[in-house]
Amino acid sequence: MGILETVREKKLFFDGGMGSLLVERGLAPGELPETWNVTHPDVIQEIHMEYLRAGSNEITTNTFGANGLKFGREGEFSLKRLVKAAVENAKAARERYASESGDASPVYIGLDLGPTGKLLKPLGDLDFAEAYELYREVVICGVEAGADFVLVETMSDCYEAKAAVLAARENCDLPVCATMIFDKNGKLLTGGDVESATALLEGLGVDMLGANCGLGPVQMKEILRELLRVASVPVIVNPNAGLPRSENGRTVYDIDADEFAAVMEEMADMGANVLGGCCGTTPKHIAGLVSRCRGKKQILPADKDRTVVSSYARTVVIGSSPVLIGERINPTGKSRFKQALREHDMEYILREGVTQQDHGAHILDVNVGLPEIDEPSVMEETVRELQSVIDLPLQIDTSDASALERAMRIYNGKPLVNSVNGKEESMKAVFPLVKKYGGVVVALTLDES
Ligand SMILES: [Zn+2]
Repeated sequence: MGILETVREKKLFFDGGMGSLLVERGLAPGELPETWNVTHPDVIQEIHMEYLRAGSNEITTNTFGANGLKFGREGEFSLKRLVKAAVENAKAARERYASESGDASPVYIGLDLGPTGKLLKPLGDLDFAEAYELYREVVICGVEAGADFVLVETMSDCYEAKAAVLAARENCDLPVCATMIFDKNGKLLTGGDVESATALLEGLGVDMLGANCGLGPVQMKEILRELLRVASVPVIVNPNAGLPRSENGRTVYDIDADEFAAVMEEMADMGANVLGGCCGTTPKHIAGLVSRCRGKKQILPADKDRTVVSSYARTVVIGSSPVLIGERINPTGKSRFKQALREHDMEYILREGVTQQDHGAHILDVNVGLPEIDEPSVMEETVRELQSVIDLPLQIDTSDASALERAMRIYNGKPLVNSVNGKEESMKAVFPLVKKYGGVVVALTLDES
């Protein structure tokens, strides 16, 4: 039975922190934890075992920082070797635990994908496509080695999360889960919130989503409330062991295992479907949490009847009040705009975007269709540039399926798609893209007849 079937029946328990336990066991400052997959496989397996004995039915591979920016393609610590060893350590621990305990209930191995450590453009210098490639490499090795699902975690930027989720979805058939790191006001580092991140992640088809790290369980309760309000897939909460402070040069967390477990029980009762820990949590925290929450009834979130488009920072819900869509980025009947397109005057186009945002538009239409330009490439560029200067959701307006796909792929949110109609050809071109990347369609009520 796969993890998605199991989560329908009972609450699932993720493991807790890995890094702090490795430090206790001698990981030196500056030493990369992933190297221990090959230098200290016994230690890594023992930590997995401790979580399994605590009652975790999911263990996460020690691959949080494993990516091609930190590890090379060759040698003792090649990326491939580290990722393979990490999955093998988790599998070995699962086997040993099953024979030691006689417990035959399923344990799932999550291939851990953490942030790359670099910011994506326009905030940093990493291209979306480069981020995608970094994740793709890890997904391919981890899946080949036998992971059961992919866990995208500790994402403070939903654009990076999108790169990781797409890399997983396009390179394996395993379930994909994603958890974001929110601050106490429910914001991501890049300005998004629970609602906009959920729109994007559910649009991309993640199987479960939630929050991890950053907050202790007390502060995460508010995030959970918001997740349960907007999410239609099972919700994960993996908080830290309270809030960190520095004590004699060491990081310590402000609540103990009992208190942690008590608040986690409240979150289980609120409706969290999958519970575990992040920084500072230990097998003791997880054991307390499991003993309080095991056997609680699992209630999955209902499908939310909401029509939502989003940018990286904003969400627009369609249906409750009028939504104003700015149509200035559209050559139809506008000779000055046509000229800007022909002359590749991106500044003019962006100014039209900024002006409409200043005047209160909720969503911006983006149409760059002119017969004499390369529409797919100009569409991609326009969407990329627009989303670096404004934070409104975009409506991608084109009849060219390749322009639509290029824009949807790099769009940082869940777009409105203008348009589809009832002709077979139109539906066949548009719907698979919307299914893959997420989106809301504007549909014209016409067909062949
Ligand atoms: Zn953490």
